Amino acid sequence: MPSLLAALVLLFSLAAASSAPVDSNPLAALKGKTVLVDPGHNGGNAAHPEIIDKLVPAGGFRKECDTTGTATNDERLTEPAFNWDVARRLTKLLRAAGAKVVLTRGNNSGVGPCINKRAAIGNKAGADVAISIHADGGDPGGRGFHVIRPGLVRGYTGPIVKPSYALAKDVRASLDAAGLVRANYIARNGMIARKDLGGLNLSKVPKVLTELGNMRNAGDARHLKSAKWREHVARALRSGLAKYLADAQ
Ligand code: ZN
Repeated sequence: MPSLLAALVLLFSLAAASSAPVDSNPLAALKGKTVLVDPGHNGGNAAHPEIIDKLVPAGGFRKECDTTGTATNDERLTEPAFNWDVARRLTKLLRAAGAKVVLTRGNNSGVGPCINKRAAIGNKAGADVAISIHADGGDPGGRGFHVIRPGLVRGYTGPIVKPSYALAKDVRASLDAAGLVRANYIARNGMIARKDLGGLNLSKVPKVLTELGNMRNAGDARHLKSAKWREHVARALRSGLAKYLADAQ
């Protein structure tokens, strides 16, 4: 009697669901936490090379203040605009879950701030966690996302390497769960450790940098241009941050 069996299974699952703890909200860990959201580059960078080409401290060496970022092949979507839009959506979602959000820039028409300042903003805020939002400009044949975590730079990243690794795994898992594919042209299994990024090297709080797709790839570009997809990705990022904060407690 398969229908009776099905009914019994349903009854048992309902009973199991009703006995679940009331604090099982997966976003609960965000409440009261400070999150640094760092939308990469800025819309005005391209017009001001005299500012963004200046060298700034980057963690034991000096590097350009910032770069212009990339764009889709048709130039209709710039990386700063994409980063800003996802960051704005993520900020709204995080605040709705009770988190305090600190942004490294408040619009997409200015210049900078420089990479060292971006890290300093998160440090000064005493952020519990930090995330940089980017999209890559790679080989047009390659697609997919990757998460960049800080590698060990002595005298700089020591205290954040381990928690940032945990954060990178949680963010990658949430992007996997959202159906995004891991990059097939860079990194390994959707993740890479780097020591050349000032924004990570100078951070005193756990931080990762997400490259959410390859703007030069036609398939990825279609996603990156979609408002619906960006909202979907912002939700996935929020889940990853919440999971990290829950585990860190
Ligand atoms: Zn970028």
